[in-house]
Amino acid sequence: GQALLQVKDLKKHFHVGRGAMLKAVDGISLEIKKGETFGLVGESGCGKSTAGRTLIRLYEPSGGQIVYGGRDISQATGEEAHSLKRKMQMIFQDPQASLNPRMVVGDIVAEGIDIHGLADSTKERNDRVQELLETVGLNREHANRYPHEFSGGQRQRIGIARALAVDPDFIVADEPVSALDVSIQAQVINLMKKLQRERNLTYMFISHDLSVVKYISDRVGVMYLGVMVEMAPSDELYSNPVHPYTQALLSAVPVPDPDVENERERMVLEGDVPSPVNPPSGCRFRTRCPYATEACAHDEPVWREVSPEHWVAACHCID
Ligand code: SF4
Ligand code: MG
Repeated sequence: GQALLQVKDLKKHFHVGRGAMLKAVDGISLEIKKGETFGLVGESGCGKSTAGRTLIRLYEPSGGQIVYGGRDISQATGEEAHSLKRKMQMIFQDPQASLNPRMVVGDIVAEGIDIHGLADSTKERNDRVQELLETVGLNREHANRYPHEFSGGQRQRIGIARALAVDPDFIVADEPVSALDVSIQAQVINLMKKLQRERNLTYMFISHDLSVVKYISDRVGVMYLGVMVEMAPSDELYSNPVHPYTQALLSAVPVPDPDVENERERMVLEGDVPSPVNPPSGCRFRTRCPYATEACAHDEPVWREVSPEHWVAACHCID
């Protein structure tokens, strides 16, 4: 497929006082194809949420390039930035926190329609809102109710309707089902898949839950401490993880098929992710990697294609 989004060496650093910099995203490169779902995984604090927000320009990038539909949008301002906000939407983890409790659902969903002046009359606006509510499996009468009157799953449907209201091309979904019961998770993900087919949407799906990501994603990227360590088509990544960090993450995921249960040896990751203010030299995973050697502290990993479309930040133990 054709690339919708090309990201080169993207960085997002935050000042954290006394001249220190938190390098939340420290040089990631990726491409997202039109109509696909790109999954982004990693432990909490690895920079995946910041990456998602920066690439739709909710955050100002500190460096690097974002090319969207052939246009460099890294520095977009004013009118251009405004129209981008329409094409790129976000679905948040906690629908409770992201929906204004004092607004009725109809006004929440219509926010983008109002901001971008997408309806010529109040009637057109309200019709559109009602249609959107039905599209996400709610009903017209829900437009007059408040967020607290809904369940978690329904609130996430409202968040999805709000994102769809401006007819976007690209949606970043940041842990969209992590706060929901497992039975509800499947419903929301199936709704997202259906909407993707019907509206030709492209997704970035961010999650720490590797089973959920496997189910929805065409390709998956694995982040560790602000950098990408591995990226591959979903099936390939899950059946043939190459980077020790990916192997460790996957070894912690329960395998539902009893025949393959013992195929993957469980690797326990000791310790926490180090601070992104002072990341380790060389390979950032070395402080937790069971295979680390002296050389891992000196050599910067280099991005390398190990099989078609399967990229790994080259590592000493796979040389
Ligand atoms: Fe482990 Fe070294 Fe490979 Fe990093 S480069 S993953 S520390 S073996
Ligand atoms: Mg996050």
